[in-house]
This record gives sequence, C-alpha cells and structure tokens, in this order.
Amino acid sequence: MIQCYNCGKNFDKKETNKEHIPAKGLFEGYPDNYKDNRITVRSCISCNSSYSKDDEEFRNLIGTMNSEKERATLSAKSAKAIIAINKQFDRIITDYYGKIKGVEFDEANIDRFHIKNFKGLFYNEYKYAVPTEYKIISLTEPTDNTYHLIHYLVDNFKWKISGHRDVFGYIIQPLRELEQQSIDLIPNENDKIILACMDYNSSHTALVVAVKQKD
Ligand SMILES: [Zn+2]
Repeated sequence: MIQCYNCGKNFDKKETNKEHIPAKGLFEGYPDNYKDNRITVRSCISCNSSYSKDDEEFRNLIGTMNSEKERATLSAKSAKAIIAINKQFDRIITDYYGKIKGVEFDEANIDRFHIKNFKGLFYNEYKYAVPTEYKIISLTEPTDNTYHLIHYLVDNFKWKISGHRDVFGYIIQPLRELEQQSIDLIPNENDKIILACMDYNSSHTALVVAVKQKD
C-alpha cells in the first residue's frame, strides 16, 4: 500500500499517480532541464486531479510579477489565461481614469496551492503524509510574527531546491529552541509546529505553518 501525500489515505500503487512539487507551470520560459530534478510524491487519483485551478491561479500570479526576460513566456501565458478566465475583465483593477493598475487573484486558490506544496515537501522529507492532528495554514499577509518565523528558517537552515533554485527553493523544519545553526531536524511527537518557507521564481515567498491541535 502507498499513502497519498495529500489525503493521507492508503491505496494500491495502481490507484496512485505521480504529483510534481511544484507544478510544471512555474517552469515555463526557463530551460527544459530546470524541471528535471523536481520532487515527485505519490498521490491518489482524486487528489491528483483536484489542484489544476490552484496551479493555474498561482502561475498567473507569478506571471504578472515578471521582471526578468526568462519569465516572459510565463507572463504571456498568464496574461492570456487571465483574460480567458475572465471575459468580463472584472479582475482587472482600473483607476479613476480607466487605466489598468493591476489584477486581482483568488487568495483561496493561492493558499491551497501553498498548502499542497507544503504537504508534498513534508511527505518527500519524512516519507509520510502530514498527520491529521496538524492544522495547516498559509500565511500570505506578512506580519512581525511571520518575519520571525521566516528568519528562524533562513538563519538556521539551508535552502533546498526542487528542479532549479531560480524556480523553487524551500526550507521545511519543526520549530524548536535552537542554540546554534542546525542540521535538518526530524519532527517528533513533541513538535507542536512545523514550518516551511517556499521561494517561487525569486519573486514570491510563502510561509506555511502546521500547528498541532491536540496531544
Ligand atoms: Zn489523496
């Protein structure tokens, strides 16, 4: 039997698929070999097919933040998708004079995208799905507290990559009191909080926190 990285249920291998973390859309416009060493995890068929809208929403978000020429293909695709999804252009934010100021994104999709990647990274690191007693939260709005948490990760541990660092870097670790910089920690039953920061396309950093609900 194989555990699904996302729902945590067990399946026969033939009832599972490969899921790539992160999704391939983020690699558009980069050299083909950037995708080669992406993390893959096992997913049940139903979980495997449930994230395409979230993947696309996040790809579109990254595409609009484009500042480098490598990401031009990604941006062009995003622009097309945003217009196609939204024939009424109600996502386009205009100013008083009708000039385009920006595009709105669905935060729920973006949060689900980060949480999916957190679950994939956890499964890849520790070889089991995030236990159900953890509640997983995506913190998209940076606050003083979230900066502390990101600093805990980046000051004490090394970045890892999936595919290529230009596209995706991450750190996933339990939150503990540390005396000094540390090698990888393995979560145990005393860990109340597991953290991950994920750096996408060098233009967006997400923090995801898993908090244990009971002992
Ligand atoms: Zn599943």
